[in-house]
Amino acid sequence: MGLTRRKFLIGGGVVAVAGGAGILTPMLTREGRLIPGKPRFGFVQGSEGPLPQQADVVVVGAGILGLMTAINLAERGLSVVAVEKGEIAGEQSCRFYGQVMTYKMPDATFQLHHLAKHRWREMNAKVGLDTSYRTQGRVEVPYDEEDLENVRKWIDVKTKEVGADIPFKTRIIQGSELEQRLHGAVSPWKVAGFEEDSGSLDAEVASYVMAEYAKKIGVKIYTHCAARGLETQAGAISDVVTEKGAIKTSRVVVAGGAWSRLFMQNLGVDVPTLPAYQSQQIISAASRAPGGNVALPGNIYFRQQADGTYATSPRVVVAPVVKESFMYGYKYLPLLAIPDFPVHVALNKQLIDSFLQPTHWKLDEVSPFEKNRLMTAAPDIPELDASLAKLKVEFPAFAESKLIDQWSGAMAIAPDENPIISRVNEYPGLVINTATGWGMTESPVSSEITADLLLGKDPVLDPKAFSLYRFNS
Ligand SMILES: Cc1cc2nc3c(=O)[nH]c(=O)nc-3n(C[C@H](O)[C@H](O)[C@H](O)COP(=O)(O)OP(=O)(O)OC[C@H]3O[C@@H](n4cnc5c(N)ncnc54)[C@H](O)[C@@H]3O)c2cc1C
Repeated sequence: MGLTRRKFLIGGGVVAVAGGAGILTPMLTREGRLIPGKPRFGFVQGSEGPLPQQADVVVVGAGILGLMTAINLAERGLSVVAVEKGEIAGEQSCRFYGQVMTYKMPDATFQLHHLAKHRWREMNAKVGLDTSYRTQGRVEVPYDEEDLENVRKWIDVKTKEVGADIPFKTRIIQGSELEQRLHGAVSPWKVAGFEEDSGSLDAEVASYVMAEYAKKIGVKIYTHCAARGLETQAGAISDVVTEKGAIKTSRVVVAGGAWSRLFMQNLGVDVPTLPAYQSQQIISAASRAPGGNVALPGNIYFRQQADGTYATSPRVVVAPVVKESFMYGYKYLPLLAIPDFPVHVALNKQLIDSFLQPTHWKLDEVSPFEKNRLMTAAPDIPELDASLAKLKVEFPAFAESKLIDQWSGAMAIAPDENPIISRVNEYPGLVINTATGWGMTESPVSSEITADLLLGKDPVLDPKAFSLYRFNS
């Protein structure tokens, strides 16, 4: 059903725009550019020893999508090598907010999220490790009557759509149930959507634990090992060329996060995405604050983590203007119709950098990936500070919370905000799994679809809405 593009309003994802409309705040001086980073929390070491000369599958990128895809393929008995230019889960996959949810997801991605949420519920038992996953419950107060009406309709439709195997547990709450979930709030909130079985993953834990599991089941992960490109013979992939040598393989998965577009550009394949950055922070536990996951109008968001700390975020998107904005920006314009959703357009050095960025290189040359080992976005500190102050006004219990960490993550998003999970027609044996603002939620299922596409099997869900070629028509 048409729930409009508000799916990202309170979500983990983002929109990326070129500039222009009234809801945008031009940013000439603010943060919102790529900077060298480091993993937010320790890190898992890569595999030791020389790079294997051959593998059934090579996965480019060891963020959550690369890791989960490698796991899925290894569980099917294939030998899998993942190559990572920097550190395991060093970019987006240690910087997320951590909600695993379906709330207000549009038709194209609802089933992906619904099934993935179910897979996450079973993950700790499956891998025998604590991924930090918890079923948490999420309250979202609608920002106006129309929003509430749309949510009511969405709940009706989805209740009928889902089968009995994985029940749908989202409903409207009010009265004492809502009061209890928002106890201590200053505003008299009257009604909210409640996703009883929404999940929570902590950015300090989840991807690293999945990387440990991947290694345990035999996936080889090589860090500081950028993939420069592919070699082909008679129209088929023959090798992945990395900075540490070539690996013979006929099957490749590109899960390069914000770098997938550049990797594919060197192959002559267009992946239309624009960068989008989001800042967030962690604050210490507050003894009298509500738990769970809460999203309120006015950009007040918090989510309790497994260790009692809270993730909070202003959910402001920073969209840096880059070379691609002039090519694709117009395709993102419908997203600007989203009410109550601040997008800051950043005009800064990144625009110049994007024009200077080489898009083609030879495989015996140092590639841009080796020059950008681990990148992140500069956090928007004034925005983060302002949102924390707002949270403390609405919930005075947070007054005792201390700031623990602030950061920003760099994503690359397609014009319709759906992920790209697709065979690459120009390169038989190549599948791409990328371009999502919801990769933590989706990864258990997007990885399964990726593996199915790679192995010529019928995917668990229809991947049409995720095709790389959907933008052509
Ligand atoms: C602030 C923020 C909040 C978010 N909140 C949520 C949320 O609440 N819920 C949710 O579901 N999702 C959320 N997300 C989205 C989620 O974090 C991402 O969708 C997910 O982490 C993407 O994983 P990835 O593997 O595609 O990318 P990444 O984690 O960026 O991994 C890609 C990896 O590929 C490597 N790489 C790239 N090119 C090469 C190359 N040529 N050779 C070798 N390695 C290469 C990179 O170094 C990188 O490590 C959030 C994201 C951000 C930034």
